[in-house]
Amino acid sequence: MPIVVQKFGGTSVADAAKIRKAAQRVINAAKAGFQVVVVASARGKQTDQLVRDALELNPNPPKREMDQLLSTGEQQTVSLFAMVLDAMGHKAISFTGFQAGFLTDSTHTKARIKSIDTQRIHKQLDAGKVVIVAGFQGIDEAGHITTLGRGGSDTTAVALAAVVGAESCEIYTDVEGVFTTDPRIYKKAAKINKISYDEMLELASLGAGVMHSRSIEFGKKYDVKIHVRSSSSDVEGTIITHEVPEMEGIVVSGATIQKDLAKISLVGVENHPGSAAKVFHRLAEAKVVVNDIMQTEISPEKANLSFTIGTSDLHSAKEAIEVIKKEVTCDSIFVREDIAEVSAVGVGMRNHYGIAEKMFDALAKAKVNIDSITTSEIRISCVVDKSQAEQALTAVCDAFDLDKPAEQRMQ
Ligand code: ADP
Ligand code: ASP
Ligand code: MG
Repeated sequence: MPIVVQKFGGTSVADAAKIRKAAQRVINAAKAGFQVVVVASARGKQTDQLVRDALELNPNPPKREMDQLLSTGEQQTVSLFAMVLDAMGHKAISFTGFQAGFLTDSTHTKARIKSIDTQRIHKQLDAGKVVIVAGFQGIDEAGHITTLGRGGSDTTAVALAAVVGAESCEIYTDVEGVFTTDPRIYKKAAKINKISYDEMLELASLGAGVMHSRSIEFGKKYDVKIHVRSSSSDVEGTIITHEVPEMEGIVVSGATIQKDLAKISLVGVENHPGSAAKVFHRLAEAKVVVNDIMQTEISPEKANLSFTIGTSDLHSAKEAIEVIKKEVTCDSIFVREDIAEVSAVGVGMRNHYGIAEKMFDALAKAKVNIDSITTSEIRISCVVDKSQAEQALTAVCDAFDLDKPAEQRMQ
């Protein structure tokens, strides 16, 4: 029997009526001949509430305990979901991440999946039950509960779809699909019908919160067809799939803004082999995920080294800096927390020119100063002042016509 994975995000299971509606979709898929695996998130804004509860008691809570706490949000949803299906006359069983076979590494609050033992899931599916798995969590080798990072239920769903060989992974959320940018910020954003894994991966890594970036890595690696769609309508959403030649005709597919960033700069670092290695060794040891790195030589003896990180890693990074100061000589170190990064992404950038110029010109006209610039083959990112973040995003979206559907932007 074919398998489908259906993932319901927080807003899609926020109250009893919404869980019933989600359950009806599951039953429809089962009636259409599918074995159904459901992945559910914590209800509504419950994860945010749990984070607030923790911070009220301890401003820097132990990460292991954070995982222990946050994992309970999804555990509540899955049992409620199973109860609703039971009430609707359908056999179902709920599993925590651990019960569903998710083994992860031990990086608490942003663990990576190491393996998934699907035996238990298959046994229940074969017994005619819908299997409901708590998103965003697993267990490490020592038996500690771990979580996969905020938004990680998408990764649970796509990884499961890969290992059970599902026909597709349906991501039900509060928007009709992936848009050219966050429609909450840029109201005119256009829905994207089809997008490549590579573009979606860049968008997700650069702040498009609609999908967890690790989920796209799994999707690409294991060829999972991902369909992002609305839980409140039947409108076709966005298909995330392999790149096809016509996608290169669209220069910029989407834009993002990332506000939860900090930039650390080491000014006048000793310019000889091993300096950068020492800095990043200590950051890696502290499990800090570094986004962009910029280094420039300012004299034969000295260089300026800057890097950006997520603000959730700032505490660990500052601790690592205290060690680095003792090992690497530099004139000064400063941390900026008042920054944001605006990015434009598109596979079409590979074979079109003038894209950087257009983006910088749009920011100049919007009177947004660019602090630093980084690029990859398919993206351009500019660090700007946080107070101008939305202004910067709007300027970039307008410049690349991101209010228009893709067909009208083909070149
Ligand atoms: P869920 O709880 O279903 O996982 P999320 O809040 O994680 O939902 O993701 C959906 C939200 O992502 C949308 O409400 C939207 O505001 C935001 N978002 C950010 N960037 C985009 C984008 N490019 N396209 C669509 N939604 C986006
Ligand atoms: N509940 C978690 C969060 O809010 C995971 C998820 O929803 O994907 O981040
Ligand atoms: Mg999400």
